[in-house]
Amino acid sequence: MITSAEDELEKTAFLPLDRLFAPGGIGTVKQGKVVAVEADAPTKAVILEDGGRLAYDALVLATGSVWPEQLQFPDDPLRVSDHLAHWRGKIASAKSITLVGGGPVGIELAGEITEFYPEKKVTILHRGDMLLNSTYPDKFRKAFEPRLKARGVEIIFGDCFDQMPEGMYTSVKTRKGKEIETDLVLPTFGGKPNTSFLSPSLLTSGGHVKVRPTLQTTAYDDIFAAGDIIDWNERKQAAKHLRHAPVVAQNVQAVLDGSEPSAVYKGTFESIIITIGKSGGIGYVDILWGIVLGDWVVRLFSRDFMIPRARSLYNY
Ligand SMILES: Cc1cc2nc3c(=O)[nH]c(=O)nc-3n(C[C@H](O)[C@H](O)[C@H](O)COP(=O)(O)OP(=O)(O)OC[C@H]3O[C@@H](n4cnc5c(N)ncnc54)[C@H](O)[C@@H]3O)c2cc1C
Repeated sequence: MITSAEDELEKTAFLPLDRLFAPGGIGTVKQGKVVAVEADAPTKAVILEDGGRLAYDALVLATGSVWPEQLQFPDDPLRVSDHLAHWRGKIASAKSITLVGGGPVGIELAGEITEFYPEKKVTILHRGDMLLNSTYPDKFRKAFEPRLKARGVEIIFGDCFDQMPEGMYTSVKTRKGKEIETDLVLPTFGGKPNTSFLSPSLLTSGGHVKVRPTLQTTAYDDIFAAGDIIDWNERKQAAKHLRHAPVVAQNVQAVLDGSEPSAVYKGTFESIIITIGKSGGIGYVDILWGIVLGDWVVRLFSRDFMIPRARSLYNY
């Protein structure tokens, strides 16, 4: 989406939450930014940026990740088109783009840039000696390199920048002293848990929310967490959260009923689909012997990125 306006994904991929609950149902959506949680107050509440207080009997934290600037869409929907125009403009005007990090985001971005701008030089700078990380088997990790190279992408392994370059530049030096000619460097690594507004008592040193298998926080029976922010050894993906949600829903109901939460999250198998431009990509499902999926399966996903399905879940 940040590479080109061609498919106008922004027209369908962003959804308001106003139809989340059925008309006449008991749910309401209140929009606001939570800046603190008063978990020990006589009336427990979340505190909003505008000074409002929202009392709760059970609270679910699901505030997601903080991403590098170009992937961090503004909270204000009115600023999204400016954000997209800014980054699309930067990519369009750059001659040579360096992507820092050879994970799924870096690979997909390299695929998109070479799709829309085949004349641009794209380099991936990756700390490891193989793309992706050790969550995935070597046969899957190695499959991306020839596909990207065939699109003209240069991949530099085992190196990094000590500091992200700032301002205007035409070349940058890596830690190992390699000079890369580039006029745009984009970090693509390291989504961080978006939990800075929470008490440290809820968090690990890395900022994830400490949870029990019931997805209750370790600190409070009536505060739950789900999604990217939980301290659980799994790749952070929307696909995982479909498994968190039923556990949280059942256990929230138990807390409200005054009974013992009994649903437990046991983790799930890893799976991923990584597109390489519009024509395909490679996927992996960690079941049986570990199944690598080819272009046609990836195309089933990438032809609409499952946006229509997501829209229907939000009653759109
Ligand atoms: C480029 C990219 C590609 C990806 N591709 C895939 C993919 O193909 N498949 C996949 O499964 N996953 C993918 N992911 C990961 C996926 O997007 C995340 O795992 C998922 O969105 C996390 O869901 P979440 O509900 O935890 O958080 P989010 O989806 O980030 O939702 C968090 C919500 O909380 C709100 N919020 C945050 N802070 C506050 C606050 N203080 N007060 C009130 N509201 C707040 C935010 O505005 C947001 O609406 C991708 C991520 C990126 C960056």
